[in-house]
Amino acid sequence: MKGVSPENLVVAETFRSIQGESTYAGLPCFFVRLAGCNLACKYCDTQYARKIQASGHEQHTVESIISSKNPNDKLVCITGGEPLLQEGSLILMDRLVKKGCTVLLETNGSLDISSVPKEVIKIMDIKCPGSGMEHQNRYENLKFLTNQDQLKFVITSREDFEFAACIVDKHKLNRAETPGPTDQTDDSPHHKPNNNPHHNSNNSPHIIVSPASPFCSPEEPAKWLLESGRSWRLQLQLHKIIWPKRERGV
Ligand code: SF4
Repeated sequence: MKGVSPENLVVAETFRSIQGESTYAGLPCFFVRLAGCNLACKYCDTQYARKIQASGHEQHTVESIISSKNPNDKLVCITGGEPLLQEGSLILMDRLVKKGCTVLLETNGSLDISSVPKEVIKIMDIKCPGSGMEHQNRYENLKFLTNQDQLKFVITSREDFEFAACIVDKHKLNRAETPGPTDQTDDSPHHKPNNNPHHNSNNSPHIIVSPASPFCSPEEPAKWLLESGRSWRLQLQLHKIIWPKRERGV
């Protein structure tokens, strides 16, 4: 990002909340929401973070962000906006990993993820047609995802669900994800990459479908998922169920 030193980040907000998305949903988590995004999705629910604003967004050093979190917060989510627009996000992730944190990166999938530290769990979008941003997908990124990572399709319609199925099949991303006796290996904040064959038959990421309100109700993708026979994960945004009236800080 122009004019911002790699040791500084433009931040929209930091907060503690319950992680509402991914296989880590339900866990307490420290969030760093970076400002600025290169996309304009139809359903964007973080408009306040999309454009860098002179008021409301502040520059913070990497070290000050790390020291603002509670030392007990071992699960940290770097989100946005689009975090990878800022060079300093890589430094922040690296330092958090070195401090023993489990780091989640939420990225919109349009920028190169090859430099993201390998310990970071990447939660990457593939933009469906309903987003209006399908043309921005960077499919080369798929080769950098492993079985610890998560590929997310935000669904606005049946067309989007079918699009997700086409992408998963075309790139051979179907994984045999059978429920294990416990999901602790995946959900623990001290998570290490999961090599347990009970959970994964290949190196593919988890596949997540998430209905975009108000375009799609949860019942619709639930029905399509059951009909499809695919073992994908239906994601509801847990933080919006807990705090339906709060637009920030959750
Ligand atoms: S990528 Fe995320 S932050 Fe950017 S416009 Fe889309 S939904 Fe909003």
